[in-house]
Amino acid sequence: MAELRYVSTRGSAPELGFADAMLTALAADGGLYLPDHWPALDPALFDAGLGYAELAEAVMWPFVEGSIERPAFAAIVSAAYGTFDVDDVAPLVEVDDDIWMLELFHGPTLAFKDIALQLLGRLFDHELGARGQRVTIVGATSGDTGSAAIEACRDREAIDIVILHPAGRVSEVQRRQMTTVDASNVHNVAVDGTFDDCQDLVKAMFADELFRKRMRLSAVNSINWARVMAQIVYYVWGATKLGRPLSYAVPTGNFGNVFAGEAARRMGLPVERFVVASNRNDILTRFFSSGCLEISDVHPTLSPSMDIQVSSNLERLLFEIYERDGAAVAELLTAFRANGAAALDPSCFSRLDEHWVGTRLDDEETLAVMAGVYRDSNTLIDPHTAVGLGAARRFRAAIESPIVVMATADPAKFPDAVESATGVRPALPKRMADLHERPERYAEIAVDLHAVERHIEKVIRG
Ligand SMILES: *Cc1c(COP(=O)(O)O)cnc(C)c1O
Repeated sequence: MAELRYVSTRGSAPELGFADAMLTALAADGGLYLPDHWPALDPALFDAGLGYAELAEAVMWPFVEGSIERPAFAAIVSAAYGTFDVDDVAPLVEVDDDIWMLELFHGPTLAFKDIALQLLGRLFDHELGARGQRVTIVGATSGDTGSAAIEACRDREAIDIVILHPAGRVSEVQRRQMTTVDASNVHNVAVDGTFDDCQDLVKAMFADELFRKRMRLSAVNSINWARVMAQIVYYVWGATKLGRPLSYAVPTGNFGNVFAGEAARRMGLPVERFVVASNRNDILTRFFSSGCLEISDVHPTLSPSMDIQVSSNLERLLFEIYERDGAAVAELLTAFRANGAAALDPSCFSRLDEHWVGTRLDDEETLAVMAGVYRDSNTLIDPHTAVGLGAARRFRAAIESPIVVMATADPAKFPDAVESATGVRPALPKRMADLHERPERYAEIAVDLHAVERHIEKVIRG
């Protein structure tokens, strides 16, 4: 079969191979990369009784073929999933009658982002090593992404990583997961400002062309195609475990997780419905009921990783329902950026109907779900997972197939919310039990582009 090429959702950037699409992340026309066609899943995968890493290698191979040798890829996949606490990587457990949870949080930083980032750090390192290059990965975090990216990049030879977080505005567990990593290529900066200030600083560094080239800046944020690719695997995994058509309920922020499910469906996975679950920040719920994208303010909630108004990966779904007309997608999103609102073409909106529903839970409903699960089955769940489970229950009667809820974080990552719902404070898992004793390392810097750039040059170039 011919090697896949990657095309931009805005239709005017050059096509790239896998490795270039991964290292570039954002296409030159502002779009996101997608494969030029969807490879079909091999039906034999469903009867083969493969372990997670073996399934991952088989599902992802068509996407990377031509960029890496098969044995090297197999070794990287196996090392990535060897860092998980359970052999199964992503265990499937039943919660209610025909509602299941797929536990995606057994990786090093206790949230589902490890599944993609553990792979991505190693793929970056391999490719850069082959090219004899180094990069500086720069990112801003409001919590989970920073620690997952740091764990993925620590001790990698070809990578330095710098993560900016807003000083005093991330939880202590989240901060310590970043600042106690003892590796010479990891650099944390506490910015004396908000998360938006951090994000603006990162954008400004990328826009400073001299700095960007001198430091070879790169990014591993959720628009990177390789992250979506890695997430396709667990949708297939859940289906092989259940062995029948199914639906997925997904607590959603940037839409990267649930879009990976749509990719799996387009590859032939029998998915009946996607239930897109939001917290009070409900632009997606409104979108799936009206076909209109309309921005509003971001409200802080108990599920902070979903406190997002502009879900960047939605662009990938729009590209598919506009039948891959990049110019039409670019026009729609330009209007959305300019006006804060845009309506889908009605014939495209009707293509969504069958497979997509959206719903939202506020904080009180989220706490009630957490309390109920603890009362009925003595199980603690995190607030993001609770939003997914509450959404699944609302659609239980309307959907024929079993519903699998994506359990995206370990309850120990959000101890305050869990305690206020259940009265029980979850303990950190063994691998992190001494987190509060480990020494921290980070710099504190004002919201000042030049000060941050000077600091980065100094710590990396010495
Ligand atoms: C990032 C994150 C989400 C949202 O995932 P998206 O891919 O951005 O939709 C949900 N739950 C948790 C715990 C997360 O860390």
